[in-house]
Amino acid sequence: MQASVGALDSRDIATRAASESATLRDATSSYFAKLTLSWKTISTRLDAEDSDAFKQFVLQGVPMSKQTANHVAEQVKRWALENGAMFYSHWFHPLTGIPADKHDSFLSRGVEPGQGLAPIEQFPGSRLLWGEPDASSFPSGGLRATHTARGYTAWDPRSPMFIRADGATRTLCIPCAYVSWAGHALDTKTPLLRALDALARELPPLFNMVAGREAVKGVFATLGTEQEYFLIDKSFLASRPDIVMAGRSLCGAPPPRGQQLEDHYFGPIPARIQAFIADAEYELNRLGIPVKTRHREVAPAQFELAPIFEEANVACDHNVLTMDVLSRVADRHNLACLLHEKPFAGINGSGKHNNWSVSTEAGENLLEPGNDPANNLPFLVMLAAVFTAMHRHADVLRVTIASAGNDHRLGANEAPPPILTIYLGEAMDRMVRNIEAGNFALDVHQEDIKVTASIYARKDLTDRNRTTPFAFTGNKFEFRAVGSSENPAWPMTVLNAAVAEAARDLRDRLAAKCERMEREPAVRELVREVFIETRAVRYEGNNYGPELLEEAKRRGLPILKNTPAALATLQRNDATRFLVDLEVFTQEEIDSRYHIYAEKYIKTIDIEAATLAELARTIVSPACEAQIVDIGNASAAMAAANVVSEALVHRVGQLARLIDQLDAGCRQIAELRHKAHHQSDIGQSMNVIADELVPVCETLRHAVDGAEEMVADSRWPLAKYREMLFLGV
Ligand code: ADP
Ligand code: MG
Repeated sequence: MQASVGALDSRDIATRAASESATLRDATSSYFAKLTLSWKTISTRLDAEDSDAFKQFVLQGVPMSKQTANHVAEQVKRWALENGAMFYSHWFHPLTGIPADKHDSFLSRGVEPGQGLAPIEQFPGSRLLWGEPDASSFPSGGLRATHTARGYTAWDPRSPMFIRADGATRTLCIPCAYVSWAGHALDTKTPLLRALDALARELPPLFNMVAGREAVKGVFATLGTEQEYFLIDKSFLASRPDIVMAGRSLCGAPPPRGQQLEDHYFGPIPARIQAFIADAEYELNRLGIPVKTRHREVAPAQFELAPIFEEANVACDHNVLTMDVLSRVADRHNLACLLHEKPFAGINGSGKHNNWSVSTEAGENLLEPGNDPANNLPFLVMLAAVFTAMHRHADVLRVTIASAGNDHRLGANEAPPPILTIYLGEAMDRMVRNIEAGNFALDVHQEDIKVTASIYARKDLTDRNRTTPFAFTGNKFEFRAVGSSENPAWPMTVLNAAVAEAARDLRDRLAAKCERMEREPAVRELVREVFIETRAVRYEGNNYGPELLEEAKRRGLPILKNTPAALATLQRNDATRFLVDLEVFTQEEIDSRYHIYAEKYIKTIDIEAATLAELARTIVSPACEAQIVDIGNASAAMAAANVVSEALVHRVGQLARLIDQLDAGCRQIAELRHKAHHQSDIGQSMNVIADELVPVCETLRHAVDGAEEMVADSRWPLAKYREMLFLGV
């Protein structure tokens, strides 16, 4: 129990106190969004003429005059300086998966009357609107050669700017899209904005046709991201090269107690962790991120945070920022925040549930069933659009959640399988089936659950199904299969685009029906047809059960078991054409994304394999060798006393075999890494990685875990699962 972990030993970690930072704070609303600057606030700081021009720029994309842009930038600079930010940065989302920024000072040399050149703070409009980072090192998947490497950042005014405070350093961050010299999207935000535009374009005409009048002027997608994460004491990293290099443990024998007692979910939050969470929440709220919910999750050392939902573009930026803040604040608390989908084998991994809906400009939720859902035509049409989107494009949606990390989770009996289906819950499912049969009735009544004579609970119309990837949860859909470390912009791009496409088709079909019948019966007929057509994508069973696989085959649903299988979808033009038709991606952009994600998959596993091999050869094998020496000494002492231990002889044999297995595993890894790098085609490389390298790593891991169980605890050089998961957290 005393493995030396960096400078600390595990007894010190066990007794680490909560930091003192959990000071009593004022009401959250008093500091909420204090470090953000929205376009609305900027416009109140402008004169009437500039303000009008600026609003047209933000809301309709009408370019501003140079003069107006300068005035806007001047207000931005003043606000930044008032808040102590001397630097600004275009903050954008290249396809590396983590946000990028490059800081520039406001400092400039200006001409002061009578003084010649003098240092001043300057921020011309052009600097606010555009940037040109030297971008040759960001992934482009072939869209850009190093000799034509220009990339441009362009301000997205709808996502609030914010000030990042690191100690005494404050930097103004300007959310941006990022495109190449030729205008190709090199980021996650650009296609998301295009998809949200498509949704805003395609949905109102459908709902206006359903209503028979201009009922819906505009719509926007809403998103609330539940974020799961693990916390371990930071000191453990010193002895875990795997977590440092790969973000997850690549070995570790199962501890005697994992999550089998089911005592973690919603369990009490330890004081040290609560202090961290309070600090993180404070930072997040100052950044305008409305965090609302915190709780312990299923696995030991696992937690969850959820914000109040926001407009989807802002929610995506805010989730990326949330992951950043969690990591930074954890570091200050001597904790490491692990956002990986599967930091520890044998216990639950982490997801990011994307709660999604569509709201009208007037604030009505189009997925709100109301009191009589079976006769709430806009609601039924919205359901029909989502069913159509999922039924047609489950394969492309599956691509958006594919990653080396999420491969450990999906289908691993703790998260939904890699088969995307919709779960409605008993009441809604019955309603949908009634409608299929032509009976527009809900057939269930919301009732109370009697607890005691005086206590009752209100029963929801939808139950929870933790096994489903995509659940209707009362008045929104919850896309539960998204990985914890992922930028939600990618799944949100495809989901919103697919719903936009469905809306366009439904409108065409409805228009055709309205030629020959009254509007209301036409809507009902359409809804009924669509419910029947899309039946295959609805599944009310247990998605963890093995029977789903057979059922999915029978229904013809896409079964894309891992990342290589999922990514292959991007090479099928028939699957992705809708994205091109809606102008969410160009074909070149789709091709480039295939390459970027394939490469990322290959590199991720390549790094893991190299790390595991190094760890086996340079840490674990020497520990086994030292153990043999110890046993040799013990045997010599026994021989002196004329006794022999069969157990010790046996143990030396076992250790020797383990050493050989470690060695063999390392050699196989080296060969397969070489083989993967020398395939002619990137798809082939992925297959070598998935089908050959991953299993070899698994086998090597078993040998390492076997060694952990053989080597004396006091000599074992890596922090163990039982330490990382239970000490100090
Ligand atoms: P759950 O039902 O999963 O326990 P909540 O009701 O707290 O959780 O909601 C989870 C997330 O869903 C929160 O981030 C919440 O803000 C978000 N949410 C609620 N309504 C909507 C909506 N209309 N659109 C998008 N997200 C929503
Ligand atoms: Mg939820």
